[in-house]
Amino acid sequence: MELKKILSIHILYPGGVPSSYLPDVEDHEASDQESKRSGLLKKKCDKCSEYKPPRAHHCRICRRCILRMDHHCAWINNCVGHRNYKAFVTLIFYGTIAAIYSSVILVSNALHKDWNFDGVMPFKLFYIATGVVVIGLSVTLGTLLGWHIYLTIRNMTTIEYYEGKRAAWLASKSGLNYHHPYDVGAYKNISLVLGPNMLKWLCPTAMSHIKDGLSFPTSREYS
Ligand SMILES: [Zn+2]
Ligand SMILES: [Zn+2]
Repeated sequence: MELKKILSIHILYPGGVPSSYLPDVEDHEASDQESKRSGLLKKKCDKCSEYKPPRAHHCRICRRCILRMDHHCAWINNCVGHRNYKAFVTLIFYGTIAAIYSSVILVSNALHKDWNFDGVMPFKLFYIATGVVVIGLSVTLGTLLGWHIYLTIRNMTTIEYYEGKRAAWLASKSGLNYHHPYDVGAYKNISLVLGPNMLKWLCPTAMSHIKDGLSFPTSREYS
């Protein structure tokens, strides 16, 4: 199997735009050739000159457009996008559980220890340093997990959350309400990210539900 194909099915691959992708211009009310061409141009990325599917964004670090891009994560040195978002969410879930579990063991062990003997200082330092790391990790990963649970329930990416805030502000100035177009209801939103089978939600390799990432169901189709 060629390297590109192996990478494209890898669990860590965020998802790039296929070279054969052509955007749909029908929704641009483009009747003549000229307006069709300008509609197509609007859908081109001005940095890598690729056509941009809905929800795709250009990553400056990866130097390409990423499907349903969430953010570029410096910790995993990779983009988090359409194909690896589930793996990312499960990673922070298990990371949070592991950090909390370690904190509980460390604190309960420290409470039951008899500290009144000589030469205990290095031990104390070890407990304090480890405590700072595991409790700090629990809080940081727990906060990140909470944030991504919120985004998954709303079917939003981090980029779309900030774009949506601006769109809501602009809409409110015109007396309108803004609704995130890909929010199709909490349970359906979770199923789109984690899969239709609840028993496999926390299994990072269960990704048969992940489609090509070039189009997504919208609330208009569900209403
Ligand atoms: Zn691009
Ligand atoms: Zn990136």
